[in-house]
Amino acid sequence: MQSYRMLIAGEWVEAASGAVFETENPFTGKPWALIPRAGVADVDKAVAAAQAAFRAPSWRGLSASARGALLRKFADLLAEDAERLARIETQDNGKLIAEMRGQLRYMPQWYHYFAGLADKIEGRVIPIDKPGVFNFTREEPLGVVTAITPWNSPLMLATWKLAPALAAGNTVVWKPSEYSSASALEFGKLFEKAGFPPGVVNIITGFGNEIGERLVSHPDVAKVAFTGGDRTGQGVYELAARSIKPVTLELGGKSANIVFDDADLDDAVKGVVSGIFAASGQTCIAGSRALVHRAIHDAFVEKLLAFARTARIGDPAQDDTQVGPITTKPQLAKVLDYIEIAKAEGAELALGGKRAVAAQCGEGWFVEPTIFTGVRPGMRIAQEEVFGPVLSIIPFEDDEEAIAIANGTIYGLAAGVWTKSINRALTMSQRLEAGTVWINTYRATSYMSPFGGYKRSGIGRESGLTAIREYLQEKSVWIDISGQVPNPFVQR
Ligand code: NDP
Repeated sequence: MQSYRMLIAGEWVEAASGAVFETENPFTGKPWALIPRAGVADVDKAVAAAQAAFRAPSWRGLSASARGALLRKFADLLAEDAERLARIETQDNGKLIAEMRGQLRYMPQWYHYFAGLADKIEGRVIPIDKPGVFNFTREEPLGVVTAITPWNSPLMLATWKLAPALAAGNTVVWKPSEYSSASALEFGKLFEKAGFPPGVVNIITGFGNEIGERLVSHPDVAKVAFTGGDRTGQGVYELAARSIKPVTLELGGKSANIVFDDADLDDAVKGVVSGIFAASGQTCIAGSRALVHRAIHDAFVEKLLAFARTARIGDPAQDDTQVGPITTKPQLAKVLDYIEIAKAEGAELALGGKRAVAAQCGEGWFVEPTIFTGVRPGMRIAQEEVFGPVLSIIPFEDDEEAIAIANGTIYGLAAGVWTKSINRALTMSQRLEAGTVWINTYRATSYMSPFGGYKRSGIGRESGLTAIREYLQEKSVWIDISGQVPNPFVQR
């Protein structure tokens, strides 16, 4: 069994208590590595290291261009190490190797993009309306950023936080999910290799319910960037509020993929499948509700079932596997529970509906691609995030009804629209309450385009130009240029 250490202040260390936990391979269901189980003392040590690094000339004194150069170096190392990291991630969280290769090929772009922004963070000169003063602004980093990430796309979701946070000059304490710590620790080695000063990036591993509270509420943490479930996110938000910390929250979703009667049905079938069965539905942007116009409902369902039946389920490390395992055992139980809830609510099971036990699934935690028809918008299966390969098909009569159903959940992360009408596409893009709307495509993201949620799906944006602002604060500087001290008893 492989043993990992955490990264604190540039040193690879065990937890202060010496405690470890096992991490399992979801395909074999067996433990394969030991991970340090950090406690509050380790959090304090990591935050102190990040705070010291934030104040040290080796980081604070670097020019913005030099900071950008470090990020570019990291991006190059990441590109060189992509295959190895992809394999570790697949082993640890069961993501398809094909998807991991794609993610890791693209991931360096975030560091290049934000490296390019590092030395374009500029203040403004304000043409102030008072005589004898000069006023300008500075954009400054916040300090120590706590990054907390989930298990479903660990390196990618950390990248969305680390690249802008570091480009802006902050330092970071990153806690990956307990289910995906190994790839995070391997990733950490590259920061060291790229030449980041010790303490600029710290990675501590352990259980959210043991160290999460300290990570969020520590007085020297200036900001919390969190991706995870909305209930955990709410707790993080409440805790951060107590010490008036800004937060970025990327939370869950119940995204609608809307198929209109003028859509190309073959394309729409691929879009709906990609929305729910890619990554076994374990993505925040899962298109877990397919809203289908009644006029094409039966024809669409027939094509969808035919296509979904061909999905190759099995070993995520094989190049041609299309549906991999569920990452965690508790998540497997949760997905199977939701299938029972849907049946009990009266949804009609059209495909799947069980734990997959085919020979190629071994002892792994697999769920068959599952499709329910006849789902009504108010059912739990149509309202709550399952985070698994379970699709609800909801019929609709017209555009107004489609919008009402699509917007009728507490979430607002993403939506897909399948239509050939440009008028309808643009109207939908305006009226859907979602941070991302895809027209005739699904699941596209880029370092250049902002990503985040409406409503309970989150606060703030990651990626794109706006993301760097999440890691900066603006200072206003006033200088007297009159050479005369005005009446001290009157506000200038
Ligand atoms: P969780 O909310 O359970 O966990 C997310 C992270 O928070 C983990 O690192 C977890 O640690 C940590 N955590 C747990 N409890 C606390 C606490 N009290 N204080 C601080 N941190 C804590 O989510 P999952 O890992 O189960 O991931 C799945 C969820 O993430 C889904 O709901 C999904 O929608 C959402 N998600 C959202 C995305 C978005 O961008 N909007 C993207 C991807 C996923 P530990 O693992 O040790 O419990």
